[in-house]
Amino acid sequence: MPQLSLTSSENSFIDKLDDYASEMLSTVETWSAQNSGSHNRSGLIAMRAMLSERFSDLPGQIEETALPNGEFVSKTGDVETIIYEPALQVSVRPEAPVQLVLTGHYDTVFPEDFHFQNPVRVDEDTINGPGTADMKAGLMVMLTALETLERSDNASNVGYKILMSPDEEIGSPGSSALLAELGKRSHVGLTYEPALADGSMAGARKGSGNFSLIIKGRAAHAGREHHIGRNAIAAMAEFIGGIEGLNGQRDGVTFNIAKIDGGGAYNIVPELAIGRFNVRMKETEDMDWIQSKLDDLVAKLNLKDGIHAHMHGGFTRPPKPMAPANAKVFDWVKQAGGLLGQDIKWAPSGGVCEGNNLWASGCPNVDTLGVRGGDIHSDREFMKISSLVERARLSSVILMKLASGEFDAIAAKKLATQC
Ligand SMILES: [Zn+2]
Repeated sequence: MPQLSLTSSENSFIDKLDDYASEMLSTVETWSAQNSGSHNRSGLIAMRAMLSERFSDLPGQIEETALPNGEFVSKTGDVETIIYEPALQVSVRPEAPVQLVLTGHYDTVFPEDFHFQNPVRVDEDTINGPGTADMKAGLMVMLTALETLERSDNASNVGYKILMSPDEEIGSPGSSALLAELGKRSHVGLTYEPALADGSMAGARKGSGNFSLIIKGRAAHAGREHHIGRNAIAAMAEFIGGIEGLNGQRDGVTFNIAKIDGGGAYNIVPELAIGRFNVRMKETEDMDWIQSKLDDLVAKLNLKDGIHAHMHGGFTRPPKPMAPANAKVFDWVKQAGGLLGQDIKWAPSGGVCEGNNLWASGCPNVDTLGVRGGDIHSDREFMKISSLVERARLSSVILMKLASGEFDAIAAKKLATQC
């Protein structure tokens, strides 16, 4: 294979990106100051309006796509409906021979009433702000790189869909079907989650599942008729002991009990307990093992007199291993970085994102193309200002090389669907 290089016109497009630095930064600051917590509907609407305005600079169609309703288990053990805000989709050249999907989320983990609402400059190269690294700055990087692609020579060879989702931080329950559809139709996926502060990207990713166990017993007076009560919390304690005992039994599989609801007054045998837990796994086959262990534990509870246990929820994102097709896409990122003097490294991650969903539907992808940053999901969240242009350069090269065919997206997709 001939050594990859940049043409003079590619070089001039890349150089031009410096001119956009201050506009990129001020837009990210504006976006960061707009709260868009996953459950803040009016905030999500306002955020989507700003994105819609900015992304309509691209050619093609921009539209809001309604998402199916979801379910959650309330504190009273009832299964309730959740309505999600629409996703924002942009569709450009759907007839082009190479089709890409670019994804990012516009929700954040920070509720409307949380104290962390505004970006603050910490030093010349650092901003501390909600949803900066994770991942409004990533959306800015994506857009800037696409604008570069649109100016470049071979843009007509590549078509793409952009998905901006409102529910990534709660496990993509509403947009998972859309992610699957986009993954299926696209040769390669690019997702704009943040890289670590030193630029390291996430390689293989674990899979994840969220479950709620609802246990119903029988209430009784704790003093007068303790014997006719059936204690739902005691049954939950047994279950929790069971899943804790599964930790360490299978390589890479973990169970985390995250939240418990139930019980009431001291003098009542509790009739309700709800346990919410997360599981992580390294391999797709682990999911069957986990499911059978959970089924056994629930069946054991249901053998108890007067106790009814019911599991709600399931696996939300299957694992994303470093399969040959994903390794190929990473190799392109490394090569693109090499052309720009950026040393690209990656390491396995226990975290999950939309890249897991894309891979599950046969779309090789790299999912940490956003800015460099850290301390995400906390009020210490920060991004590195210089990485806005740095990462826009990286994605611009990747997109231009996908358009020129030097990065063969169709071959990568073939590799993904073979295995
Ligand atoms: Zn996040």
